[in-house]
Amino acid sequence: MENPLTPEVLADPVALTRALVDIESVSLNEKAIADCVEEVLRGVPHLTTYRHGNTVMARTELGRSQRVVLAGHLDTVPLNNNFPSTMRGDLMYGCGTSDMKSGVAYALHLAVTLPDPRYDVTYFFYEAEEIESRYNGLLLVGEAHPEWLQADFAVLLEPTYGIVEAGCQGTMRANVTTYGERAHAARSWHGVNAIHGAVEVLRRLTAYEARRVTIDGCDYREGLNAVRIEGGVAGNVIPDRCEIEINYRYAPDRDPAAAEAHLREVFAGFDLVVTDAAAGALPGLEAPPAREFLEAVGAAPIGKLGWTDVARFAALGIPALNFGPGDPNLAHHKDEHVEIGKIRDGAATLHRWLASS
Ligand SMILES: [Zn+2]
Repeated sequence: MENPLTPEVLADPVALTRALVDIESVSLNEKAIADCVEEVLRGVPHLTTYRHGNTVMARTELGRSQRVVLAGHLDTVPLNNNFPSTMRGDLMYGCGTSDMKSGVAYALHLAVTLPDPRYDVTYFFYEAEEIESRYNGLLLVGEAHPEWLQADFAVLLEPTYGIVEAGCQGTMRANVTTYGERAHAARSWHGVNAIHGAVEVLRRLTAYEARRVTIDGCDYREGLNAVRIEGGVAGNVIPDRCEIEINYRYAPDRDPAAAEAHLREVFAGFDLVVTDAAAGALPGLEAPPAREFLEAVGAAPIGKLGWTDVARFAALGIPALNFGPGDPNLAHHKDEHVEIGKIRDGAATLHRWLASS
């Protein structure tokens, strides 16, 4: 296959977005797109390029005092009659237009066209973000070559509709179980109904007032919800067990241990088991490259509510934020699209920030 990422395409973030969208790369099928990206980067004299699996990393080595990361995932969710891309007026439709090949296009465009950035830059084009974490290219690189991730600041080019979404909330799942005693439903007074026992758990949930926390000017709104309930033995048996699955989204001023302690407080007196936890990420907007980035964007940041790969950088002590042209509400939708004007605005912002003054 001829590499569609020609010099003319690489020079234009819009044409580049379209060319990237038209290389199919559903998760675990990123080889073709990674090959194209790697071939381009290996031809750029001011970059040193490495590859691990289908993750490609290229970096400048200019001896600057600060290093920043620009990162985008190459994979998409499964196609849904939205491949290849189509244009309708000022909108580009297709799988991955918003999440996140328009963001990937920024990184690739800058990697090729900016020989002399004001910071050293590490560009990541990584595999398998949209599926189970164990396949995630950044996770795998962190295990195999942790030094590749070293930086002072990172920008994840996920869709944010052109504003800065900083940090991210943590997430925790837990099971709260109520217990009773089985009995025949005809003589229910011999038993204890565990499903009825769940009422108090649900009452605490509905009465719960979720915190709102402001950190570095970003508002984080927490949430505590039942997401599944399971109990019952048979149509004529008083149930002896009921399990309520809880999902807790917590602001990044709490770590997983503090989040668990809070859940134990809320559900005091009940049996609670944490089944899954991922730490959030503080916005970290005080780092000098982050402050300069915010200046270039010129709009107030907001808190990221979902969990994203910024948390992987935060775990290494590297402040990180999300910034991309796509509309996050359209990600994973059949009619996913991106506005051409948004692509151009964001590209200009990144150029302003990174170009030598
Ligand atoms: Zn994404």
